[in-house]
Amino acid sequence: MSNIVAIVGRPNVGKSTLFNRLIEDRVAITDNQSGVTRDRHYGNAFWLQKNFTVIDTGGYVVGSDDTFEEAIRSQVELALDEATVILFVVDTKQGLTELDEEFANVLRRSKKPIFVVANKAETFERANLVASEFYGMGLASEVYPISAADGSGTGELLDEVVKHLEFDQVENPNEGIPRISILGRPNVGKSSFLNALLGKERSIVTDIAGTTRDAIDTHYKMFGKDFILTDTAGIRKKAKVNEDIEFYSVLRSIKALDNSDVCIVLLDATLGLESQDVSIIAQAHNAKKGIVIMVNKWDALEKDSKTADTMKKEILERLAPMNYMPIIFASALEKQRIFQVIEKAMEVYEVRKSQISTSKLNDILLPIIENYPPPSMKGKMVRIKYIVQVPTPSPTFVFFCNLPQYVMESYQRFLQNKIREHFGFEGVVITTFFRKK
Ligand code: GDP
Ligand code: GDP
Repeated sequence: MSNIVAIVGRPNVGKSTLFNRLIEDRVAITDNQSGVTRDRHYGNAFWLQKNFTVIDTGGYVVGSDDTFEEAIRSQVELALDEATVILFVVDTKQGLTELDEEFANVLRRSKKPIFVVANKAETFERANLVASEFYGMGLASEVYPISAADGSGTGELLDEVVKHLEFDQVENPNEGIPRISILGRPNVGKSSFLNALLGKERSIVTDIAGTTRDAIDTHYKMFGKDFILTDTAGIRKKAKVNEDIEFYSVLRSIKALDNSDVCIVLLDATLGLESQDVSIIAQAHNAKKGIVIMVNKWDALEKDSKTADTMKKEILERLAPMNYMPIIFASALEKQRIFQVIEKAMEVYEVRKSQISTSKLNDILLPIIENYPPPSMKGKMVRIKYIVQVPTPSPTFVFFCNLPQYVMESYQRFLQNKIREHFGFEGVVITTFFRKK
């Protein structure tokens, strides 16, 4: 499996500078087809003992016959087709431009991991500009300020990039041990939940505003199983909870989920689902992690026999279409159903890596498709021939058909729902792809 990292972006943002830095002194191959205005550079990069290919997609050349839209599209399409990961380079010196937005519009349709790389961020001011402006493009959970010219920030970027690449099994002592993270806004009860689970008071790091504390990993054994709990609890003890701290705590949650298989997202029953809870859940969903929702402080709520059902329904309705996750009503304080939360997380972990055999998949889905085929487009019939589940960390299905470009989003959702109906996959997102056959 070859991994390709594609660099895209408008001219002059520093793509080729970044490319040269990533491949360091390795030799670049230039694909300069005669008569073609576009130069593409291929090179090999190496990071954390991992090898991958970098492409500088170059982009359009001013004065070519291509219209602007077409030029962007062809550059981006290459990235979308070929790349494992896309680095979308923007310029902090110039800020966000209309052209960046056009790129973003095309990129947004992709399911590939996209890194927004904010280049020329040598100064603190410029690095800071990043947060306000470039997060707004809605492309990535993180913006990476770097300077391609002096190399700063590129290490952090590559650390994350290589996580999205697929490599043959490498030595890792914790390989195969489920990683579960405990996420949520400040005060939802993360520390209390951990203390209840661990049965002892954990030392909580006192934090003053402006300093950070990384997520903590605890190797844990329960129900005869090994797992690693990652938590971001205790970040703002004693600190005044203001918007900044809330914001950073959410950011930290988002970072912590990167390394996990399953996320337990805590909500506060007395507050219900708030927008920052939704953004944490959306991040876990986008990262295709397993998700369990724990509605904590259940003890503190006045309730009757219908409260749980009503609340569950409300939460799932608000989360739609991210409404596939189990919800458990619990109390860290009273140790009510806290082990059930962990059991559920382990279940979701198993479900997430389960593989459906091709024959079973086709036996069940093909008749459904026959009864309710994709709507024809431009007078053409889309024929789905067969389906396979590919061996990726979260359930991904490829539908081979004659006209993949004609399959609408709504039909994809229909198929995803059918897969869920027949095969479960509670707590994990189902991804579908259409390929020509
Ligand atoms: P491309 O058109 O996107 O490939 O951009 P280039 O890599 O050719 O860079 C465009 C200009 O930006 C050149 O003058 C570079 O020297 C400059 N540049 C690239 N990276 C950086 C950087 O990190 N900081 C600063 N200050 N300038 C940079
Ligand atoms: P964290 O910021 O997410 O780590 O939240 P903490 O664990 O520090 O809890 C915040 C506050 O909520 C504390 O005052 C806890 O005592 C309280 N709390 C946590 N869990 C529960 C619960 O299950 N029920 C009730 N009533 N209060 C809780």
